[in-house]
Amino acid sequence: MNSNKECVLKNRAVVFFGPPGVGKGTITTRMAKEFGCRTISSGDLLRENVKGGTDLGSQAKKFMDVGVLVPDQLVTRMVMAGMEKTDGCVFLDGFPRTIVQAEELAAYLKKRNWELLVIDLEADDRFLLARLTNRLICRDCGAIYHRINLTPKKEGVCDVCGGGLYQRADDHPDVVATRLSVYHQQSAPLRDYYQKLDLMATLRGDTLLDETLAAVRKVLTNIQ
Ligand code: AMP
Repeated sequence: MNSNKECVLKNRAVVFFGPPGVGKGTITTRMAKEFGCRTISSGDLLRENVKGGTDLGSQAKKFMDVGVLVPDQLVTRMVMAGMEKTDGCVFLDGFPRTIVQAEELAAYLKKRNWELLVIDLEADDRFLLARLTNRLICRDCGAIYHRINLTPKKEGVCDVCGGGLYQRADDHPDVVATRLSVYHQQSAPLRDYYQKLDLMATLRGDTLLDETLAAVRKVLTNIQ
């Protein structure tokens, strides 16, 4: 996603880190508009590749369908290609998810002489399971709804653009359980990794959206 506003976070990558369903996508999109930063979402890019029937898409699909991680090399190459198109600042949603990916990112940022900040959003599994299995997404504009907490005005229809709403295949309960366990085993160790480097701010992702946005905004404003 691109923004026309001038980027106010110079020479910096901000990683939005956290378990599936914590709100990384929504928060990154909202903050990118406010701060004029381009966003790279590894999940969105992979889904675009699957939809477009690319070679990468067909390789990634079998992993995504069952809720496990796509191999590091495939994802890293795709994200780095996107990073090449950025200047000024970038928000990363869903990348890195492994130590190998984090090391690749660090090496890339070092070459560009960019700083890194990680915003770690946390919530417990029960909350995430309830959120993900009730999530509905607009096929056309990507707006996110919830069957109980954030219902569209007309059932099955997006308030923003009138597009049809659908449930992501990997938001079905059995796949969500796998995604959460993959997060704990393969991605959560990154919290220690970034904490040791003193690059991370941890915030609650299970508060009201406006409260989480305010907390994120405060962190981003303070680093400018
Ligand atoms: P997301 O939309 O971020 O929940 O990602 C959906 C799926 O895409 C994940 O369950 C993974 O299969 C894959 N994926 C997204 N980002 C990554 C990543 N950084 N590393 C490996 N797999 C990823």
